[in-house]
Amino acid sequence: MSQDKKQFAVIGLGRFGMSLCLELSKQGVDVLAIDIDIDKIREISVIAPQAIVADCSKEEIVQELKLDDYDIVMVAIGEDIKSSIITTLILKELGVKRVWVKAKDQFHHKILLKIGADRVINPERDMGISIAESMLGNCVFNYLPLGNALAITELIVTKNYSGKQLRQHPFADNNKIILLAYKRGAEIVKDFSLDTELQIGDILIVTGLETDLMEIIRSL
Ligand code: ATP
Repeated sequence: MSQDKKQFAVIGLGRFGMSLCLELSKQGVDVLAIDIDIDKIREISVIAPQAIVADCSKEEIVQELKLDDYDIVMVAIGEDIKSSIITTLILKELGVKRVWVKAKDQFHHKILLKIGADRVINPERDMGISIAESMLGNCVFNYLPLGNALAITELIVTKNYSGKQLRQHPFADNNKIILLAYKRGAEIVKDFSLDTELQIGDILIVTGLETDLMEIIRSL
């Protein structure tokens, strides 16, 4: 396996796994597509040349796939929660570096984090956040869900808060939101005073509960 080219594997070719494989292949990335269902493998093999039939809830089968060489293995088995959990557990126990898993609901999400999933994806929720970000695009620079309902976001200071002090920004009204640092041009300032006067284009890096962050974003 080449050292510089990233390698990804996707287990489970439902709508999500299938579109992930198609997009990665389109971008010229090597992706190994795996499914228990031979028809899914026939369908994907036209686009992704590396496609194999395997039941990933069986340890001995997963072991043979040598997935620990891959940069990210995505478990996109949704409906069959038991298979999703067992597959994730096997991958982590076999030492796969980064296991990302698609969750069906909040309960599934929590279990996946407890058994060591490195990132849990909830497509509907993540899509909602991403669309909200686009709608609010002029005041959110970046948004990163951290799991357990927490996130980090970068808030752009617009003219509404230019010239005001940090303490007058809406994040300061919520004592559960933490300002980690702010960026001004190329500089990141982490030792700041709440008296600091904000300038247009400053970026506040804040963390807290996603619900609290969304409330602040809406108020900007
Ligand atoms: P979507 O909403 O994206 O269609 P879904 O969560 O409904 O996703 P599923 O119908 O669960 O997706 O499909 C996931 C795929 O995972 C199916 O193609 C199924 O054959 C495959 N799959 C299920 N169990 C295993 C397993 N143990 N090993 C490999 N593939 C599996």
